[in-house]
Amino acid sequence: MTNTRFDKPFTQQEAIPDEGIAAAVEILRGGRLHRYNTLAGEVSEVSLLEQEYAAYQGAKYCLATTSGGQAMQIALRAAGVKPGTKVLANAYTLAPVPGAIFATGGVPVLVEIGRDWHTDVDDLRAKAAASGAKYLMLSHMRGHIADMDAICAVCDEFGITMIEDCAHTMGAKWRGKRSGNFGTVACFSTQTYKHLNSGEGGFLTTDDPELAARAVVGSGSYMLYGSHGAIPDEDVFQRVRLDSPNCSARMDMLRAAILRAQLRNLDANVDRWNARYRALENGLRGAAGIRVPERAAHESYVGSSFQFQALGLAGSVPALVAACAARGVDIKWFGADTPQAFTSRYDSWKYLGDPPDLPNTRSVLSTTCDVRVPLTFSVEDCALIAVIIAEEAARLGAVQAAE
Ligand SMILES: *Cc1c(COP(=O)(O)O)cnc(C)c1O
Repeated sequence: MTNTRFDKPFTQQEAIPDEGIAAAVEILRGGRLHRYNTLAGEVSEVSLLEQEYAAYQGAKYCLATTSGGQAMQIALRAAGVKPGTKVLANAYTLAPVPGAIFATGGVPVLVEIGRDWHTDVDDLRAKAAASGAKYLMLSHMRGHIADMDAICAVCDEFGITMIEDCAHTMGAKWRGKRSGNFGTVACFSTQTYKHLNSGEGGFLTTDDPELAARAVVGSGSYMLYGSHGAIPDEDVFQRVRLDSPNCSARMDMLRAAILRAQLRNLDANVDRWNARYRALENGLRGAAGIRVPERAAHESYVGSSFQFQALGLAGSVPALVAACAARGVDIKWFGADTPQAFTSRYDSWKYLGDPPDLPNTRSVLSTTCDVRVPLTFSVEDCALIAVIIAEEAARLGAVQAAE
């Protein structure tokens, strides 16, 4: 055993690429920061980004927004969610998701997760049948993609419209198909810790022309929607343009410029994230007290964060978190009774009313640990992080993790 400390910050992202910085400086010099503030004949950076992201995603239409949460809110409304509409949603997710559903007046119907953090398909079917809900907000939380064949089958069976929350699956695929192309509409985040970084920001993609038009107008396009980059024909807008409330969630030129530069590197960065993920996985697989999930061969995930279950440390997960923190390793625990920093559990979203009883989700989260994997860490850094976690688990007397 060692007492090596890890000394890099878990919140340090890479610099914006030089070409993105140059493009941003040019925009600042020009003073035209709003997406509709263009010279005659000029195509805005935001519209170019929308075209490029639509092409990357393989979707017909794309809208760039001020956040992933706003993209979700706009997507839900554009898909038809109104006050009182029930929306199925997996209970393990981040606070922007219940927040977006609540903001539309939708009523979340929370669904259990299983031990690999995937949405529990049996519970989804049971809740779909019992609630009559016609919408599903599916969060691919921390990049773990559930059995999409089974989820799509439930949606078909009950006539459910699926909205995918791809905040952690931008760049990921399931059986060769991009995450985000399974449902009717997908939402992405470019918040600073996601796969593209504009501080705040997001996208919505869809192949549905009416939904796209409603989303564009709803994002606050005034009557300038015609200048957008990846939109349906004018006649579609004529049908919907007076029916979509403006929620002023337009992406601006600066963010678009720095995102365009990063999008070109996205696939290369996916490989870099996964090399780091594998170093953590290899270092922790078989460690006392720790269970590392087996990822399905057909799940092409993006390892921008790493999760494990401290199954053999029942009751002492906070002690593991503290011991690792003392050696410079930040672990987030999803089992805490009170929300902390970025994490919260479904029963702390009090504005939703009395939380449902979800014993499986609570049990899985009680041992769920989460580690950020910024690209400023090397593969060797990730191997060292795994050593530190394994040593501290052993020191706490972790027993073999039950399978
Ligand atoms: C980050 C995130 C979002 C969107 O978040 P914003 O901060 O609003 O961009 C949505 N869902 C999950 C699971 C997330 O982690």
